[in-house]
Amino acid sequence: MKTIDLRSDTVTLPSPEMRRAIAGAELGDDVFGEDPAVNRLQEVAAEMLGKEAALLTSSGTQSNLVALLTHCRRGDEVIVGDQSHTLLYEVGGAWTLGGLGLRAVRNDARGRLDAGELRARIRGANDHFPRTGLICLENTHNQCGGAVLNEEDLAAVRDVADAHGLPLHMDGARIFNAAAALGVPVARLAAYADSVCFSLSKGLGCPIGSVLCGSREFIAEARRYRKMLGGGMRQAGIIAAAGLYALESMVGRLAEDHENARLAAAGLAQMPGVRLAPEPQTNLVYFTVEGWDLGRLVHRLGEAGVLCFDEGGRLRWVTHYGIERADIEEALDRTRSVLAAGG
Ligand SMILES: *Cc1c(COP(=O)(O)O)cnc(C)c1O
Repeated sequence: MKTIDLRSDTVTLPSPEMRRAIAGAELGDDVFGEDPAVNRLQEVAAEMLGKEAALLTSSGTQSNLVALLTHCRRGDEVIVGDQSHTLLYEVGGAWTLGGLGLRAVRNDARGRLDAGELRARIRGANDHFPRTGLICLENTHNQCGGAVLNEEDLAAVRDVADAHGLPLHMDGARIFNAAAALGVPVARLAAYADSVCFSLSKGLGCPIGSVLCGSREFIAEARRYRKMLGGGMRQAGIIAAAGLYALESMVGRLAEDHENARLAAAGLAQMPGVRLAPEPQTNLVYFTVEGWDLGRLVHRLGEAGVLCFDEGGRLRWVTHYGIERADIEEALDRTRSVLAAGG
């Protein structure tokens, strides 16, 4: 029986072509700025996102922490969504390592920050208050079901940031999914933020890595913080070569993942007790199943060769490179049987 792994788009393995690109990479010492593949990846990424410069990091978590440290001073507050990855899943690095406070603003069901609450959370000038140093957005929004922030959503937050002279960072781990869903170049979305990071190791199918983009001055400073966090890597071209290949050859196929997610959602929605939570916009499908203990259901599905996670009250299926249309059909069949057999 074939295992269908829908736990995350991080389980993707490099394709044979990507492995060849890695094997053939021209290398140097990137801490000296001498790795040709890294330099090329950073140029290409900056160009695609419409920013002056870019920096390869080891992970999305590292990119976000480096961005927060670079934008802020110790003691500042960073405004984040209450469902954001940075607040919930990055080990508290911002306050533990950065001396930064994270101030949460409610995310609505579409991953947007509540506009009124956002304005209210920004600190005024007063000796009693910490300073607000940064506003963060997440696009696509993981916990909000892979929801896409469109240009109107982004412009609204940019206006607030500008009105208060604050920088805006976008956690764009899946920004290429957002661009694919909207049918716009990724630079159009990145334009609203001062800095944007995206993951190489999710839908783009690379083994490792994330890229942080911003102004030349921002990236020069970010480079120092990356080094401080232990992220100065030497012949990192073996990572960058995969990234370069992905930017050329993997971005264009993300729409397939979205199509498979819609297929999965349509099939799931017809099963008794299943409710989409919410309707998927990209490659993440969250759903609830009435009458089941979800931990037990995950276990039963696992026995049937369908792997997924219980994300605290919802199950999540993630489509990605390595999951074909036929795999979704098979996963739906197996799920139907598991549900029919009962809890
Ligand atoms: C996965 C993810 C990250 C972190 O990336 P890692 O490479 O796993 O550290 C950050 N933000 C969002 C929205 C993510 O989905």
